[in-house]
Amino acid sequence: MGQNEKYWTADVSSLSKEQVKAKLWEELRLKADIGTKGITISENALNAIHQDESFRGQKLGGGRNRKLYKGKDLPGCVYLPYGLKVTFTWNETSSYVVELVNGKHTLTYEGKSLGEIQYSKKLPYDGQTSSDGVPLDLIGHADYYDQHVIISYSNECSYKERDEDCLFCNINYNKDLYTEKFGPYWRTPLQVAETVKAAFEHGVANHATLTGGVVAERRELEYYVDAGEEIAKALGVETFNGTATVAAPTDFSNIHKLKEAGFRTTAMNLELWDKVFYEAVCPGKAHGSGGWDNWVKALEYAVGVFGWGRVRSNFVAGIEPMPRTLEGFEYLCGKGVVCSFNVWAPNVGSAFEGHRSPETEWYIEIATKLAEFWKKNGFTFDQIHDATAGDYRLPSDIFRIENEVFDIFKEAGKGAVA
Ligand code: SF4
Repeated sequence: MGQNEKYWTADVSSLSKEQVKAKLWEELRLKADIGTKGITISENALNAIHQDESFRGQKLGGGRNRKLYKGKDLPGCVYLPYGLKVTFTWNETSSYVVELVNGKHTLTYEGKSLGEIQYSKKLPYDGQTSSDGVPLDLIGHADYYDQHVIISYSNECSYKERDEDCLFCNINYNKDLYTEKFGPYWRTPLQVAETVKAAFEHGVANHATLTGGVVAERRELEYYVDAGEEIAKALGVETFNGTATVAAPTDFSNIHKLKEAGFRTTAMNLELWDKVFYEAVCPGKAHGSGGWDNWVKALEYAVGVFGWGRVRSNFVAGIEPMPRTLEGFEYLCGKGVVCSFNVWAPNVGSAFEGHRSPETEWYIEIATKLAEFWKKNGFTFDQIHDATAGDYRLPSDIFRIENEVFDIFKEAGKGAVA
């Protein structure tokens, strides 16, 4: 699927823009519901997509899934009938099942069809390797839909050594499972730069996020500078549309160094606003990065360095009460920090394995309020795109629905008789 192709299958030619908007809001609720309950796929449908040479599956059976998945590669995501992208969070007991109906991949709920869906396809550079022989699709993960490539420089986090991993995170669990299959996992700055270059040159992405676990003695901060310089060199530019995702430094001169290395944006993911929850759920971050107060100060300082709307903080929404998270969104957005959040999918291998997410309407409400904070603080869609790791989260959808940014709006009413 190329950058200008359709992500929706529904016929909207006889609908007005207002009607398309209403359909997208309906689909947003469906997407949030899939996010909280997970999704599965029938054997027939999975076999069929594996016969399609353009199919590209998710590589980890752990990831965001409820349980460890060991079968044929699952889709990484699906595009719903009106084009919203939803991550394929596998849950074998979910009532949402992708089935093959009359040869079409169809989303069903308790056996009832909800429409035809599509999958993410192979990238034009899949099969290429870095100059030292590592497949580029093992270094970075990209999707035309988001115009974004994300690279995790390592698959481990040193907080594990003190038994202080964040309770919702399964990075170290995945490392134990997959190091043997995919090889040692530490990406060099050159590998990162070559992957970003391929994604940018093929038009798959115009924004890159570099992320990964925290390294002992905070050595990842030096790594980011080396990687930023290597990316800028590979692209032949001084600055590039890339986000350095770091744990808050205690020495703020490191924030200047990230900007000088070429990154346009930076991210420090606070995850929770309530200090007591933060200390309990993210003990490594609370003890290893100067604590909650330093984290908030670092975010505000970073806005002074990178600019308004050029700094992001992601949250895992659904662990602390909504009013606390909203307090954080309102405060930080008011300081120029683009907040974002993931639907909390308690995943296999994390300390929260077996827990449940809040209700669907809980997510619709918090996403609507965050989209309002974005608007109130003047963030443009381009700033949100450049600061966040992918355009598929609920508040981004709302922002694009309300501002009619989605391409599907261009097709509305085209078949109407005058
Ligand atoms: S800091 Fe927390 S969320 Fe980030 S990799 Fe380490 S354990 Fe996971």
